[in-house]
Amino acid sequence: MTIDILDLDPQKTVVVATGNAHKVVEIEAILSEVLPGVRFVALGELGDFPEPVEDGDTFTANALIKARAALEQTGLSAIADDSGLVVDALDGAPGIYSARYAGNHGNDEANNNKLLSELTFVDEDKRTAHFHSSVVFVKKDGTVLVGEGNCPGKIGYAPKGKNGFGYDPLFLPEALQGMTMAQLTPEQKNSISHRFYALKDLASQL
Ligand code: IMP
Repeated sequence: MTIDILDLDPQKTVVVATGNAHKVVEIEAILSEVLPGVRFVALGELGDFPEPVEDGDTFTANALIKARAALEQTGLSAIADDSGLVVDALDGAPGIYSARYAGNHGNDEANNNKLLSELTFVDEDKRTAHFHSSVVFVKKDGTVLVGEGNCPGKIGYAPKGKNGFGYDPLFLPEALQGMTMAQLTPEQKNSISHRFYALKDLASQL
């Protein structure tokens, strides 16, 4: 259902520029502790806005592009995030291209297959990687705050687990040895994820 922007208090509303409902819940859970009384609304609930071109060369630049676009489109303070997988043996790839590593945007299986094939001859101790998340908050007055977070780990040899999305079946987080991110419950993942740490970092600045 669409919410009328005019029904929202601009001083007490933050628009979240994501199409992912889970992210809105995650963002609200962490930021409502430091922003009591603020309502978090997904951009899609306010209308059908065109997506900006994400042509930044860092996670933070792309999150800023999305947050600024949402502020322009709605007149409300906005939050956006950008995240991805950074693999040391691949000089940081897939990085900001994580969603479309194998060509087609959002084809997780193809992306995971490409990652495995790129790492075929890479030994276990060299398969280190981390997920990175940048969360950008642009206030109505144009002030910009940036939160960043990492989740370190290694890339496995075969996909395992059914939970999560993206590269989760191949990613072995350092914090929970022996399991892939896709074998964790959503609660376990949320307590160690790059997004969690980025939101905590942002919250510490509010
Ligand atoms: P987004 O910026 O959150 O849309 O993420 C871009 C891409 O990075 C996704 O399409 C995934 O391939 C990858 N990615 C980001 N966060 C995660 C995660 O928590 N697990 C697995 N893959 C992720």
